Amino acid sequence: MALIVQKYGGTSVGNPERIKNVARRVAAAQAAGDQIVVVVSAMSGETNRLIGLAKEVQSTPDPRELDVVVSTGEQVTIGLLCMALMAQGVKARSYTGAQVRILTDSSFTKARILKIDEDRMRKDLDEGHVVVVAGFQGVDDAGNITTLGRGGSDTTGVALAAALRADECQIYTDVDGVYTTDPRIVPEARKLDRITFEEMLEMASLGSKVLQIRSVEFAGKYKVKLRVLSSFQEGGEGTLITFEDDLKMEQPIISGIAFNRDEAKLTVLGVPDRPGIAYQILGPIAEANIDVDMIIQNVSFDGTTDFSFTVNRNDYERTLKILDEVKAHVGAREVRADRSMAKVSVVGVGMRSHVGIASKMFRTLAEEGINIQMISTSEIKISVAIDEKYLELAVRVLHKAFELDQVVA
Ligand code: ADP
Ligand code: ASP
Ligand code: MG
Repeated sequence: MALIVQKYGGTSVGNPERIKNVARRVAAAQAAGDQIVVVVSAMSGETNRLIGLAKEVQSTPDPRELDVVVSTGEQVTIGLLCMALMAQGVKARSYTGAQVRILTDSSFTKARILKIDEDRMRKDLDEGHVVVVAGFQGVDDAGNITTLGRGGSDTTGVALAAALRADECQIYTDVDGVYTTDPRIVPEARKLDRITFEEMLEMASLGSKVLQIRSVEFAGKYKVKLRVLSSFQEGGEGTLITFEDDLKMEQPIISGIAFNRDEAKLTVLGVPDRPGIAYQILGPIAEANIDVDMIIQNVSFDGTTDFSFTVNRNDYERTLKILDEVKAHVGAREVRADRSMAKVSVVGVGMRSHVGIASKMFRTLAEEGINIQMISTSEIKISVAIDEKYLELAVRVLHKAFELDQVVA
């Protein structure tokens, strides 16, 4: 008998019919002889609705209370799914994050899972129940409700699979696997049968929201067998996230294209070029808990330099305010900012053994007249920051240039 964790996203539980559909799938999996733990998201649109409500009442909602509000979406779906299972003759029991005891730290709205108690779930499974757990939420040491950040139900699913040493974690969503890029932007995008863990980690961190980055980190740390599949389709193998050593086959050079449209660029011009300057500029940004992404410092000729970096657009105003103070402090000439930037990245483990990927990427963008404003690379990815208005064009032409629409023989 295998133990399977199945996670169903918002669209998959978007209305009563779909909840009944999920119940049918879960019932069939249990009837096939496996023990099943299900993690569900809130019904699609519900988390956004709850955040909107909170903002109507308090313009910048108190983080603790915001988590109290937004965690309710998942509480509704666990109860409804258990009812649907019972209506189909399946024994089922629901738990909120606090009830299971998914213990997290106290970083409201972006809490990290520290520990999961498995006793209650094990007992129920052994008694023949399907266990249904609310995604996206946990509880801190003091008993406060916490949430795990947008898309956090994926992380609940993988973390439960790790804690229960499940045979597989299946992420059911509205696409039938991980594609070469978001199929909503490029209809020719191709489903990948498998993708390496490292590539999936890059894709998720560079903006592909099909899996929350922390869920991929968990899968890597605990070697969870992770698969992405559709809840709207019968059968199908989906996409398996593999650990590279498992693979004897040759890898394609580029596996996918990720993008993020929510970037903003800030430039400090005319900064005196002396030791410690990067720290003086970025230190206060880090202290404000703002993540800095790409960074460029120019070579200086006249003793001054220019320093640019990108942040998430949500942090744009706060960053600008901090830089205004930094400017006076370090004696910089000017601060310039552009809030409508996007980042496009090509990802592939095959880059390690192939040259010319960067030049092909830059040539392809140049031929479309797309100006590259910043570049950053790692062993298996190349990212560029461009004007947001060219994002979709950039993704499409790169997808074609790297022949990602072609089936590899
Ligand atoms: P869920 O509600 O099930 O968690 P999400 O909306 O969070 O679903 O994630 C699924 C969506 O991710 C897809 O509908 C698709 O538009 C988007 N997506 C982005 N990049 C990719 C990719 N490389 N492969 C598949 N889907 C992707
Ligand atoms: N409901 C949460 C969200 O919309 C968590 C999730 O769906 O994964 O972000
Ligand atoms: Mg999601």
